[in-house]
Amino acid sequence: MKTKLGLLYGGKSAEHKVSLQTALAVINALDHSKFEIHPIYITEEGSWVSGGLLTGPVETVKELIFTEGDALPPTSLTPALSNKGEEAGYDVIFPLLHGPNGEDGTVQGLLELLNLPYVGNGVLSSSVGMDKVLMKNVFAQAGLPQVNYVSFIRSSFEQNTEEAYNQVEAALGYPCFVKPANLGSSVGISKCSNREELALACKEAFQFDRKIIIEQGVTAREVEIAVLGNDDPECSVAGEIVPKVEFYDYKAKYEDGNTALIIPAEISEEEYSQLKELAIKAFKALDCSGLVRADFFLTKDGKAYINEVNTMPGFTPFSMFPLLWKHTGLEYPKLIEKLVELAKERHAEKQ
Ligand code: ATP
Ligand code: MG
Ligand code: MG
Ligand code: MG
Repeated sequence: MKTKLGLLYGGKSAEHKVSLQTALAVINALDHSKFEIHPIYITEEGSWVSGGLLTGPVETVKELIFTEGDALPPTSLTPALSNKGEEAGYDVIFPLLHGPNGEDGTVQGLLELLNLPYVGNGVLSSSVGMDKVLMKNVFAQAGLPQVNYVSFIRSSFEQNTEEAYNQVEAALGYPCFVKPANLGSSVGISKCSNREELALACKEAFQFDRKIIIEQGVTAREVEIAVLGNDDPECSVAGEIVPKVEFYDYKAKYEDGNTALIIPAEISEEEYSQLKELAIKAFKALDCSGLVRADFFLTKDGKAYINEVNTMPGFTPFSMFPLLWKHTGLEYPKLIEKLVELAKERHAEKQ
């Protein structure tokens, strides 16, 4: 029996285009003798459009942009997903979505209500993982090493801006990094070296969120580990990111192609063991399931700090997460199958 797989992609998000590339790659990697593939496209405006049943490979992302036929009013998402007997039912949904409205627990909540198995993290780990402040609070509680941080809500920040700057300078000093609390892909993130830059950076970050986080800047290598599993997760080899710019910003991620990914990272056995242990600890602290990519800072003297986990990391075949698994011995098509199995396993355990 083929697995009926609903692929959710696109999305009302800054990462819409990335998601389309991912969907194209996933569809073409899937074995059509094992999977019945149902694309569900979410437009940039947030409407959901069912693409019916795909029977073969897809050449370009254009073929994945559905505009007519089964358009669904955004207020009634349920008919696109609910189990309406054989025809419309799905065995598993794979949300290939990043950032707010996809990686933050909202879509996961909808899928829970529909009682549909889905790939990746649940509501709680997705939403806490999306909010950098809550994530760091949970990590602190778990004893994970992190750089110091403070956070502000826009309204209280605006009431006493000078006091906020004083607090940042006393607690963190410079350089520091200002980030919107709920985003990804480095959108809205700035590095600051003085109060003037701090003021500009806060203004910028508040454009994207009502809450910001400010972190102590660290001079370190950036090393990432991919984690896969449910109750008993496993780690990939480590990979290093070497941005050729000041930091790994949005442009370096998606526009320049000017960042080197070194896999496996050239780190010592001890450093690798330490990172693996921290990655698993972070996975468990957030009660994750399916997958995460854990991002670390590794200083010259071998000290590791966790920066974040991403609950739906970049997933094209050229993204860090799949590349890490490829180097660990799990090729892209097998990785997708594994994620689908993990989704079914978690769903069965909940029943
Ligand atoms: P993504 O989800 O795409 O990985 P993000 O938007 O969640 O990214 P971060 O990973 O927190 O953002 O930060 C983006 C980049 O900024 C990091 O990869 C690193 O280059 C730099 N950076 C962030 N925080 C710090 C810090 N405290 N010290 C030094 N560099 C930092
Ligand atoms: Mg992130
Ligand atoms: Mg992200
Ligand atoms: Mg990151």
